[in-house]
Amino acid sequence: MVLGPVLLGAFFVGSTLSAVDRGRATERLGVAAAGVRTSVDALCQQLRAAADAVALVADPAARPRAADQVVGRGLAAAVLIADPAGRTSYATAGGPAGPWQDCAADTTGPVHALAAQVRLRDPAGADLGTVAAAQPVDPAFVARLAAVTGAGVTLLDDPGRITHTTENREVRAAVLAAARQADGDRVAGTVDGRYVRRVGPAPGQPLPLVLSVPGERPPGLYAALVGAVVLAALLAVLAAWRLARVTTRPLVELAGAVDRVAHGDLTTRVPVRSRDEIGRLACAFNRMTRETGSYVAALTSSRDQLRGHLTVLGDTLASTHDLQRILRVILHSAIAATGARAGAVLLLDGDGALVGQCVEGLDGRWPTEDPADPATLRVPVGAGVLGTVAATGEPRRGRWEATDEPTGEPSCETYVAVPFAAPRGVDPRGPDRPGHPPAESDDSGSARLAPRRDLESPSDDSCALGVLALYDRLGADEFDDDDLVTLRTFAGHAAVAVQNVRVHEETQRLSLTDPLTGLWNYRYLRESIRREVERANRFGRMLSVLALDLDRFKHVNDTWGHAAGDAVLVEFARRVRGEIREVDLAFRQGGEEFVVLLPETDARGAAIVAERLGAVVRDQPVPVAGHAGEPVRVPVTVSIGIAVYPDHAAGGQQVLDAADDALYAAKAAGRDGYLVARAPDPVPTQEIPVVVAAVSPPDGLPRAGAGDAGAGAQGGASSGPHPPRQSRGR
Ligand code: GH3
Ligand code: MG
Ligand code: MG
Repeated sequence: MVLGPVLLGAFFVGSTLSAVDRGRATERLGVAAAGVRTSVDALCQQLRAAADAVALVADPAARPRAADQVVGRGLAAAVLIADPAGRTSYATAGGPAGPWQDCAADTTGPVHALAAQVRLRDPAGADLGTVAAAQPVDPAFVARLAAVTGAGVTLLDDPGRITHTTENREVRAAVLAAARQADGDRVAGTVDGRYVRRVGPAPGQPLPLVLSVPGERPPGLYAALVGAVVLAALLAVLAAWRLARVTTRPLVELAGAVDRVAHGDLTTRVPVRSRDEIGRLACAFNRMTRETGSYVAALTSSRDQLRGHLTVLGDTLASTHDLQRILRVILHSAIAATGARAGAVLLLDGDGALVGQCVEGLDGRWPTEDPADPATLRVPVGAGVLGTVAATGEPRRGRWEATDEPTGEPSCETYVAVPFAAPRGVDPRGPDRPGHPPAESDDSGSARLAPRRDLESPSDDSCALGVLALYDRLGADEFDDDDLVTLRTFAGHAAVAVQNVRVHEETQRLSLTDPLTGLWNYRYLRESIRREVERANRFGRMLSVLALDLDRFKHVNDTWGHAAGDAVLVEFARRVRGEIREVDLAFRQGGEEFVVLLPETDARGAAIVAERLGAVVRDQPVPVAGHAGEPVRVPVTVSIGIAVYPDHAAGGQQVLDAADDALYAAKAAGRDGYLVARAPDPVPTQEIPVVVAAVSPPDGLPRAGAGDAGAGAQGGASSGPHPPRQSRGR
């Protein structure tokens, strides 16, 4: 691209300079030719005048002297006087050799002198001969012509050979060759840059001359032009190389780097070689890969972190039924996955309120006197953001807007809250407290859970369990839809966890409760008595055990049927539950035999409870359906034996046995009453009859085995000796 214009320019410059040079040389040669003609013409005039001067001498004898004077004065180099026959009558000495070329002739041939001839005539006009004056045409003559014209002058002979010349030996051949091409006024050039033109022979200028002038082109013009072209070519190559270095190479490097990045190598960088667009592109590429690398590193780290959280979550879900711990791990994982600063998990309680189960980063963010207790975070369903989410079952996210009404929920800058629910059919509340297994009995005697319409979810096929909420996303942005989707996943985990834990708790409860009455069963009695004895030991407290047995229950069955007997058992259990404290535990051992554990209760307290139980059973006959379905009221009484740990026994089973013995004694004493166990024998290896008065405690309580101990609630206490202990198998 560069070479074309350069070559064209060089050709244009060269041809223009050459044309100008040729034109000027032609002009100079024209001027020189005119000068030659003028000089030759002037010489011829001078020679003619000299001949005339000799011819004008009238006396022929005086003419030689006149000729000598003419030569002596330098008007001619020689004068020749000839007779009419052409014979020389006088010739001045030292004249040039022939042949002499007459000025008027235009013939070619060897020329040694230029001559002008005048005819001699007498007054009558007769021819008397001729007078010729000559001047030699020698190197000096040629040099004079060259000096006059300013051009190189070469005199040729007839065949075109050089006779005299002012040209250098080096250029003579070239001048001669060019002179052969020159014709008329044409100008020819020589290879060494001279211009040549022929002048004569012609009338008035009989000499065959060649004029030459040197060209005025700057020396080495073509070399300079070629040099310029070569230089331009070099510059073009240099520019192309530079261009390749500056543009193409960075682009190639950039393309390679992009390829490596496409294959996953984010450490790729390209060198920044300039500050132009390419350099800025390289800078931007490096910045892009650096940012992408950091982004990928952050994503990888966050993925690893999330993977760690999920592992912990999975392990926790698989290894424990500790709901608080599971919810805490779910909350931590959700916080880590979304980049939140704080969060909370709330579950619906029986009073229609969301209650905090675990919180993170929300210290002092909700009105509470004990920030360490998440349960102080309570939001009524339908109130505030969390309550609305629980009520509608729709997740919400956005910026916190302060409301005038305090809702009890935490206030932060941004939030996202997602409800989680259990499929309908699964009780969202789980079992009631273990001390009072929740059970109601229908007529068929099967236990059922009481429905709680107030807690049911508005959704048709699920029941709300709680709400998972996150607060204050890092970076001050609002939580977006992706966070919502993520949180829904964790909320799903939370729902499954809560369900699992509650199902597990329910299963546990069912395995430990009596299906008919809903009281704890014998299996749980064994575990509870061991635990309560341990606790009594640890805290130095007492534990009272009540053994209860319905009186003549066989008769109820026999009279009103087994179903009526079951109904009596259920009603009895209900009344027992109603009479004991929350910390007390009621068990059905089997049949119509029951046990009540009264922690931290001495014999006097136990007697009061026994008194109350006897009264609540006795005072209200139990309504049952008769044989024809008619309502009948069955009077029921119960006998109760009381034993106190550690007063009456040294272990759990022993205190149960002691209570059983006291019950047996109460039965024996006439039923519908209670008796307290006897203090253990001081020498356990030997049964020693005890005098009743000797063991009667000062508390005045009816004592099993006491002779007159019929001091039950009804006063129908047993009398007589204490019956031998016996094991009552279950
Ligand atoms: P007492 O204890 O006063 O000496 O007389 P009792 O009739 O209550 O004593 P017993 O141990 O002989 O009778 C217990 C009866 O309880 C026998 C059985 O028919 C009845 N029974 C046991 N388990 C159930 C039950 O689950 N349902 C019903 N309806 N009856 C039961
Ligand atoms: Mg019995
Ligand atoms: Mg009985």
